[in-house]
Amino acid sequence: MHIVIIGSGMAGILLAEELHKLSPDTRLTVLTRETHGYYSRPMLSHGFSRDDVETRIVLKSFDALRAEGIEVRAGIEVLSIDRASRSVACRQDGQPASIGYDRLVLAPGSDAFVPPPFRGSEQHFRVINSLDDLIALRRERAGILAGGRTPRWAVIGGGLIGCEVGSDLAKAGDQVVLFHALPRLMERQLVEEDSATLLTVLQGLGIEVRLNAGAEAFEADGDQLAIRLADEHMGEFDGILVATGFKPRTALAEAAGLAIGRGIRVDGYLRTTDPAIHALGDAAECADGRIYAYVMPIRQQALWLARFLSGQTADPWQPPVFQPRAKVHGFSAAHPYIF
Ligand SMILES: Cc1cc2nc3c(=O)[nH]c(=O)nc-3n(C[C@H](O)[C@H](O)[C@H](O)COP(=O)(O)OP(=O)(O)OC[C@H]3O[C@@H](n4cnc5c(N)ncnc54)[C@H](O)[C@@H]3O)c2cc1C
Repeated sequence: MHIVIIGSGMAGILLAEELHKLSPDTRLTVLTRETHGYYSRPMLSHGFSRDDVETRIVLKSFDALRAEGIEVRAGIEVLSIDRASRSVACRQDGQPASIGYDRLVLAPGSDAFVPPPFRGSEQHFRVINSLDDLIALRRERAGILAGGRTPRWAVIGGGLIGCEVGSDLAKAGDQVVLFHALPRLMERQLVEEDSATLLTVLQGLGIEVRLNAGAEAFEADGDQLAIRLADEHMGEFDGILVATGFKPRTALAEAAGLAIGRGIRVDGYLRTTDPAIHALGDAAECADGRIYAYVMPIRQQALWLARFLSGQTADPWQPPVFQPRAKVHGFSAAHPYIF
């Protein structure tokens, strides 16, 4: 039996490690475009206030996983799935490759969601979705500091990630203006009272929070950047960070003819509409229509799928009830949100 897993985020790696423990004779191959190893994605939003983050964030090197007996092919791009021949087409170092599977697991995660008005002006903003994004942002920041200036950032989005990153940049000593299109912060996760506390905490960190301030476009003025709002123009930013949600990576599954909703549709057994292909993590839309894009449920999906694929359970995956927590420096919700 050869199980191929696409993705080396927590979904793919926790599944591979657990499956290898439960079924050591099963051949496992992880395919990933990453080259830095298996890292903690949640730590990305605290990537500025600590100097050693680029090394601390890596939880396990790919060589350590290989030493455990898991085949990891890093720096490889999966291009398509051929369900008829049970193989995936890939490209690595410019060379094409085809890899056969008995079971395929899709754990490709999610992209940062970029609202339509900002598409096409990617040269003016950044997102923080991968370790490569963080490394690029840290390099840019170091250049500004080396020039003797305090970096000034515009963060677009007052949701979970925008508030976390904004608080971390402020903690690192940078100037931050946070723009949120709605009247209160993290309105999807927090009750009004907690949104108000969060606002006070961010302001206490020195962040200028602009509510009801929907950015409409970005413009460059020399090496400085500006934000256009409905009735205002605000400039002199060194960088603009867009943090407006996530988008499950569904393209491979869709091109292979699998059912897609907001994510890759799976049943109670995390099975796609092809029984030889499973999906989990940020990319999977579960049987209840929800996408469990948080560490705790994804860990449970991975551990459950390992037991299912190794024949140790025939019961379906049970989604957990859990309380996501915002990692905003100095903030804790009085009424934690229940997912
Ligand atoms: C900044 C940030 C902070 C967060 N903080 C928290 C938090 O505090 N608590 C919490 O619970 N959750 C948090 N999350 C969410 C959590 O990190 C994600 O839900 C989780 O990491 C998703 O794991 P995954 O394995 O599904 O996807 P990913 O981690 O996105 O991994 C997918 C992998 O697949 C690879 N891949 C995709 N397509 C291909 C392809 N075609 N070929 C080759 N490789 C491919 C990608 O390169 C990537 O390595 C945060 C997310 C972000 C972005």
